[in-house]
Amino acid sequence: MVKGFLLKSSNVLIEGKRKEASLFISNGIIEEILDGRVSSEQYKEFDFGENVIMPGLIDSHVHINEPGRTDWEGFDTACKAAAAGGITTMIDMPLNSTPVTTSIKAFDQKLKAASLHCHVNLGFWAGLIPQNKSHLDDLLSAGVFGTKIFLTHSGIDDFPNVTKNDILDVISILQNHNLPLLAHCELDEDHEGIKILDENPGSYDAYLKSRPKVWEDNAIKLMLEVLERSNIPVHIVHLSSANLLQELELKKKEYPQLSIETCPHYVCFDAEDIPDSATQYKCAPPIREKDNNDKLWSALKSGIIDFVVSDHSPAPPELKKIESGNFKEAWGGIASLQCGLPAFWTKASENGLSIEKCVQLMSSNVARFLSLDQRKGHIRKGYDADICVWNPEEEFTITLNNLHHKHKVCPYLGQKLKGKVKATFVNGKLVYHQDSFVSLHSGELLTRTNEYKK
Ligand SMILES: [Zn+2]
Repeated sequence: MVKGFLLKSSNVLIEGKRKEASLFISNGIIEEILDGRVSSEQYKEFDFGENVIMPGLIDSHVHINEPGRTDWEGFDTACKAAAAGGITTMIDMPLNSTPVTTSIKAFDQKLKAASLHCHVNLGFWAGLIPQNKSHLDDLLSAGVFGTKIFLTHSGIDDFPNVTKNDILDVISILQNHNLPLLAHCELDEDHEGIKILDENPGSYDAYLKSRPKVWEDNAIKLMLEVLERSNIPVHIVHLSSANLLQELELKKKEYPQLSIETCPHYVCFDAEDIPDSATQYKCAPPIREKDNNDKLWSALKSGIIDFVVSDHSPAPPELKKIESGNFKEAWGGIASLQCGLPAFWTKASENGLSIEKCVQLMSSNVARFLSLDQRKGHIRKGYDADICVWNPEEEFTITLNNLHHKHKVCPYLGQKLKGKVKATFVNGKLVYHQDSFVSLHSGELLTRTNEYKK
């Protein structure tokens, strides 16, 4: 009778160091870790050679869009793309599904849709809009991981942005729950850039000028004010402007609950290299100049930026305006869920980051942010057996055939990247192995409530 899996390699990442070890996996958890390569007839053995065995990636910023906009992306395809990319846990954004996750009823619909295609672990963010303040307390009690807000138009009309006063109206509710408040930081105002984009809708430079750093910087300043007044955990999503890094560093010393993420595309691409009409690169805030992005790399190294997540936000090719290349009209969101590890690692290794640092940035630190670090984000005895096995040296090309998310519009298409995922285990089950899906429906719906129960 086989009790579970026995995974071995000479590069198992345990407590920040790689070493030869064997992991015994059964009942969904890492039951035992032994030094060196051992054998047991009671377990199905996988000797992964020199490949790295590490905790599965945790992506806290994914737009899965189901129910309602499943033609953009759905749980089935997103979970498969995640597993193929070594991601074992995702937290879904409250938009762009229909309904948006701004009421208990909508949250129930989310859970129902997710439960049908739960191939990796899935949790959820709630949204705060001016119209749902009376639902917020219930939503935060129902098991979401926190609240997402926009400070500028979100891209869809059913998720309007809030103002500073809207946030202050619900501050006591946010304080009571003490869950992260995630802010899309752009505060728009009329300026020359918008006119430039109207005149040159195919120009990336015009698009970049239409969403300047000052929008982002002003919004971050507003969120720092909210932090100072309330002491709630404020989280800056997808940092793109490097202007306020020093201020953020100081503020984090004073307020350890302040956290910051960025995404692979903000540090893997530079504005100078983005061709005109290449709307697959359109996201908001925009990908900025090399000079700015070099500072983001320094902030990743020093820890000012806490972690790296995808902000996977796909749309059908018609909405991405791939044919016309019109940056003004194209959907602002990058589809790249599966590419995160190889894309980030390829550039990170050139920038002097170690594998160990990348694992912190893409798994352990995200687990801590989500308060999941008592079970996830590390290879430890008793932890959930959410595991990614990959070869950091192996190069491969991103093609239409090896992408699993719904629409293949992706800025990494055709790129040769380093770091190939070999196998993904979710809750102790082998989900993805040798470019194929082995078993599906192995994920768990995560709520803050059941996290605390375990
Ligand atoms: Zn997003």
